[in-house]
Amino acid sequence: MRGKGGTKRAPRTFSPSLAGACLRYATMDRLRFGRQIDQASRAAMQEGGRRHRRFQAELVQGGDLIAVEQVIKDDALGVSGRMDAVRWFNGRPQVIEFKTVDGERFAWIRQHGPLVAHVAQLALYLALTHYEQGVLVVESRASDEHLEFVVSRHQEWENWLLARIRLSEEAAREHRLPAREVSLNCLSCDRWQRCFTDQAAREAAVAEHPGWEPEPPLPGGSGDAIEAMGQGRIS
Ligand code: SF4
Repeated sequence: MRGKGGTKRAPRTFSPSLAGACLRYATMDRLRFGRQIDQASRAAMQEGGRRHRRFQAELVQGGDLIAVEQVIKDDALGVSGRMDAVRWFNGRPQVIEFKTVDGERFAWIRQHGPLVAHVAQLALYLALTHYEQGVLVVESRASDEHLEFVVSRHQEWENWLLARIRLSEEAAREHRLPAREVSLNCLSCDRWQRCFTDQAAREAAVAEHPGWEPEPPLPGGSGDAIEAMGQGRIS
């Protein structure tokens, strides 16, 4: 990746929203690779942004709030981002992360529990702030329903997150892309053209390998590890 005059631009910091992403995707982000966002995804992002602002405004009115859009930064790890909100809960700070999903994904989450990507982002906030607990709020863009999940600090998850961030940092510093982590996520990835020659190749690879097997493996080997974080549904 070269800037004006042929100089390589410094990699971006690691965004917490990439905590549960494919390592190759996260590294592309740090190296400023473009994204191909289709119209439907762009509309969903705009709608998500609108709901996000409404949610934060409701929190502000509700009281017990410490901050919205709280900056979080770790220079040693090269991580920077903003937490949606932090509030007082039972005398302690609690991080709140808000996500919107389409109706189909919402039904899946209701049945199976939160997405690894969402939990990983919140778990990273807990690791960096040392707050003990966070709440993940997932809202359906189709029905306005929402689900809430409590996420507690968990050492194995923190080790996993830090290992992934370091691998991504190393790859970005060397300006190389890690190996693909083929999974169903590839079907909705907006940088998939960097991984497959065409749609057919992408679909064939995903059909052969639909499950995500990150390196190092998720704690406990699967999304079941989320249970081990003390996660529980509160509504
Ligand atoms: S297409 Fe798949 S392997 Fe490639 S960056 Fe996206 S999620 Fe990762």
